Amino acid sequence: MTGRPFILDPLFQAVKTVPGVGPRMSKLLEKVAGPRVSDLYWHLPAGVIDRRFSPKLRDLIGVAEAVATVTIRIEGHFPPKRPGLPYRIKGTDGTGWIDLTFFHAQGDYLEVQFPVGEDRTVSGRIEHYNGLLQMPHPDYVTTPETAHLIPAIEPVYPLTAGLTQKVSAKIMKAALAKIPVLDEWLDPAYQAREQMPRWHEALQQVHNPADESAVSPEHPARRRLAYDELLANQLTMALMRVNQRQQKGRALAGDESLFQKALAAFPFELTGSQKSAIAQIREDLQKPLRMHRLLQGDVGSGKTAVAFLSMIHAIGSGCQAAIMAPTEILARQHEKTIGALAAKIGLKVVTLTGRDKGKARAAMLESIADGSAHIVIGTHALFQEDVLFKDLALVIIDEQHRFGVHQRLLLNEKGQTADMLVMTATPIPRTLTLTVYGDMEVSILNEKPAGRQPIDTRLVSDERLEEVLQGLQRKIETGDRIYWVCPLVEESEKLDLAAAEERFAMMSHRFKRVGLLHGRMKPAEKDAVMEKFARGELDILVSTTVIEVGVDVPEATVMVIEHAERFGLAQLHQLRGRIGRGSGKSVCILLYNSKLSEIAKKRLSTIRDSEDGFFISEQDLKLRGAGEMLGTRQSGLPEFRLAHPEFHTDLIQTAFDDARLILDRDPQLLSERGLALRTLLYLFERDTAIKYLRSG
Ligand code: ADP
Ligand code: MG
Repeated sequence: MTGRPFILDPLFQAVKTVPGVGPRMSKLLEKVAGPRVSDLYWHLPAGVIDRRFSPKLRDLIGVAEAVATVTIRIEGHFPPKRPGLPYRIKGTDGTGWIDLTFFHAQGDYLEVQFPVGEDRTVSGRIEHYNGLLQMPHPDYVTTPETAHLIPAIEPVYPLTAGLTQKVSAKIMKAALAKIPVLDEWLDPAYQAREQMPRWHEALQQVHNPADESAVSPEHPARRRLAYDELLANQLTMALMRVNQRQQKGRALAGDESLFQKALAAFPFELTGSQKSAIAQIREDLQKPLRMHRLLQGDVGSGKTAVAFLSMIHAIGSGCQAAIMAPTEILARQHEKTIGALAAKIGLKVVTLTGRDKGKARAAMLESIADGSAHIVIGTHALFQEDVLFKDLALVIIDEQHRFGVHQRLLLNEKGQTADMLVMTATPIPRTLTLTVYGDMEVSILNEKPAGRQPIDTRLVSDERLEEVLQGLQRKIETGDRIYWVCPLVEESEKLDLAAAEERFAMMSHRFKRVGLLHGRMKPAEKDAVMEKFARGELDILVSTTVIEVGVDVPEATVMVIEHAERFGLAQLHQLRGRIGRGSGKSVCILLYNSKLSEIAKKRLSTIRDSEDGFFISEQDLKLRGAGEMLGTRQSGLPEFRLAHPEFHTDLIQTAFDDARLILDRDPQLLSERGLALRTLLYLFERDTAIKYLRSG
């Protein structure tokens, strides 16, 4: 099935094929690294242990804790006098004394390993205890004659329970023995200038660190591996882009009078950035090329208005437009706002979700097929096979980050010829934009609509929960509506749910009109609860993070987020964006665990002190690393394993330029370097990208 070169086969084998890995070990490795041999390669050491420090004992007095290798004469054994104390072995090198200490020790075994009167070389962590030097449980023990067998530098791997450093290192060695020598895909001049080793050499170097510098992201071997990953990413996007450029689009002329009528339907004046985004989009639509544009706008920046006016342009050209939302709730919300605007100017809107069945659905399908539905709103259900449009000219994907890059690829593959506008509220740090949207043109909404008041964000220790609850009572009395967001327990909906249900029970006991919203509810139930909250029949909405994106209830002015420290900053920002949408003053309370460290508190204060989504996401990136930013699944950010965008910014830009240059010169990747680059794409499982090559 796959065109993957055979030379990569060893990398795609299961970890259990590595000598010395049994079923139990293979589970542990899968957990900590991944299921394949290549995952082991990508599982890079997080540090090194340097055993080259081999001082005289005298010189260790007053030295802070260190790892050292020392040779001593064994002078005596001292079994513990009471349980709970360690077994001690005293030794000296003539300049000072040291105790080797062992908890839960077996005396007979130690007597054999450390015979009194003989010399031993031991390596391990040196501690100071009551003014004495000691080494608890040495990592290595040898005779002085075989001391060279103690590794000078050892990699330190991220572990999981049941997996030790020694075992990890051994398995890694065995895995690296299978490493193939691949043809070089780097540009020779660039490689030489950057002093980047060959691919297999780079892996050897990072797994067999020569010194501390090998774990730095700046090390040439690490930079090489990072570059490979980024280049695979950029090449994929460049291929998508070329492919898109070749797709015929259609020139949509639009209808100026319909457009003006639609503009007049809004109860507000558009912001400057809304206006310029719409102008850019209309210009694209008028061109005979297929549009691929990203509309990036912080929460509440008014993307829906831009979407609506873009659709108007398509409709003015005699065609249909569709907007796809990631959830039923959002689709229903669009139905309300877009539906109201459309009704004012006599356009028909149909909303199709997975919930619609039978006759109602058939009727909708018919109006979509005969063209009487001008605007079609929906969820994934829009892309079912039996949904046939009369003439679909524009597809808008809302909250694209919920779908992920992969789904965009799939959509693209579906061979849609319509123009595409994707919208996202994730303000991606500038450094990352290229890695996610390198193939698209970008419009940005960077102002908030007029009249918005800043949100008053406060950090409150959860010890003050009672005060917060009393505050809510006062808010309810003045007619405010409240979101109560429950903690993300882990990546498990079940546990999140339990926490939310418990909080709901507690809140219902105390307040009258409380609703519960979570991801496990049926779409109809969710809508019913949301509706009630939007209509003001509920004062408090307790929920999991399902309210994260898009939901728009201007009367909601209070948000409480429990265990705020468990969220990513960008995610907190998204959540907070649900309030501060009306003209009233809004308050966001970030409840944090009272035991929170100062550093963690400082992290949260970024949110308190800024409402600038771009700034916050940059900080988030700095503090947490890209993959974790929002929980990758939600963020739609590519999960880099070797590249660290915060360190490798220059590599991102170079990979972007490199990829374009490569395809300019060798669009089908058929040159020698081109073929090596195909291997690179397979290595990073960009098989989809290879499909874009005609002779793939
Ligand atoms: P998002 O970009 O998060 O999707 P929405 O499109 O839901 O934002 O808009 C948020 C709120 O701002 C809505 O209530 C919308 O009616 C309002 N809004 C949008 N544009 C403007 C504007 N130019 N002036 C005033 N209010 C606006
Ligand atoms: Mg929106």
